[in-house]
Amino acid sequence: MSNRFNIAVFEGDGIGPEVTGPCCELMNKACRIVSESDPANSISLDMIMLPAGAKAYQSCGEALPKSSVTQAKAADAILLSAMGDPQIRYPDGTELTPQIDLRFELELYAGIRPIRSIPGVNGPLADERAKAIDFVLVRESIEGLFAPQAPSKMLGNEQAEETLVITRRVSEKLFNATFELAKKRNANRITCIDKANVFPAFAFFRKIFYEVAEHHLTSGNTSAETLIDHAYVDIMALNLLTRPWDYDVMVTENMFGDILSDLAAGLIGGMGYAPSADIGDKHAVFQPCHGSAPDIAGKGLANPTAMFLSGAMLLEWLADTHHSVAAARASELITSAVDAAFASGTLKTIELGGQSGLADVYAAVDKQLSSAELSQK
Ligand code: ATP
Repeated sequence: MSNRFNIAVFEGDGIGPEVTGPCCELMNKACRIVSESDPANSISLDMIMLPAGAKAYQSCGEALPKSSVTQAKAADAILLSAMGDPQIRYPDGTELTPQIDLRFELELYAGIRPIRSIPGVNGPLADERAKAIDFVLVRESIEGLFAPQAPSKMLGNEQAEETLVITRRVSEKLFNATFELAKKRNANRITCIDKANVFPAFAFFRKIFYEVAEHHLTSGNTSAETLIDHAYVDIMALNLLTRPWDYDVMVTENMFGDILSDLAAGLIGGMGYAPSADIGDKHAVFQPCHGSAPDIAGKGLANPTAMFLSGAMLLEWLADTHHSVAAARASELITSAVDAAFASGTLKTIELGGQSGLADVYAAVDKQLSSAELSQK
């Protein structure tokens, strides 16, 4: 079977374009290797570059041009790097966040944020168990404190109000996606993170979590051995630092997920190591957890690993949704090449006080892909 996929690509701002080009090259190379080794199960990607972000806002007055959204919707999957520039803002002083607008536009309710220690990359925890950190944080991504249906309110110069929205419709989809992901990972624990002791909205969130859990347990989709529990977000901030190896799949509200996923990225070396996927019923966007990092843009210092692993997640999602063996193999090739590139410990990126820049990481991962190609000839 020959699989040809259209991939909409938003290279964005800051370090975005720097990490996007090498990522697309590695994805294409992995697909070529897979196709040459098994022409009966080939795969190719057509990358469609689309404008959005601060640069697009400056040139056409729209941070997320309608034509870009239309083309992204028509694609099989969307690859996005990072958008925004603190120097370029809306007239009210807020920053452009087209990547968040895209989540609303495409109803991407489940933000999947895998946190996995890469062998050879030492994060800040000295405990030996930190080498085996491997969990996923699922961040609800279209409501909570970011809900567009409850816009911010300014009452003169005296008061500002934000509203937190939890709906049964989105929460059920979110928890179903969480339990499906847990099944795929063979997870031993699924934890709901909230603040149900203070806010009724979170008590509602937790109630729906246990309803959905009951459904998955009764249907046999989730094993009765799985520990299903909950925790307050404040204690989770502590536990993620002191015993992250105790967790497997966690699910939480939008703002809590935003904050905890940065903390979690820190555990495995920094923002440059944390990939993500934003999944909806019809569309999916894959992007690193980091932003446009204007402080290091244009210097060749960005760590592209999170972007490469987001590309691997995109291919894995295509494999799952299109039953593509070739996409699954291309995804595995990229992940294995990233792991092999760091395994010797010679690469040390700037977040970890090293000197390895974008070109060094790309060259090392590319070399591992070439070795994989040679070994299958
Ligand atoms: P956003 O709000 O869009 O998430 P932000 O301003 O909170 O963005 P980032 O742009 O992710 O945050 O940057 C946070 C810090 O992490 C910065 O010091 C930045 O240089 C660093 N950083 C982010 N991404 C990378 C990367 N890929 N490699 C190295 N350092 C990075």
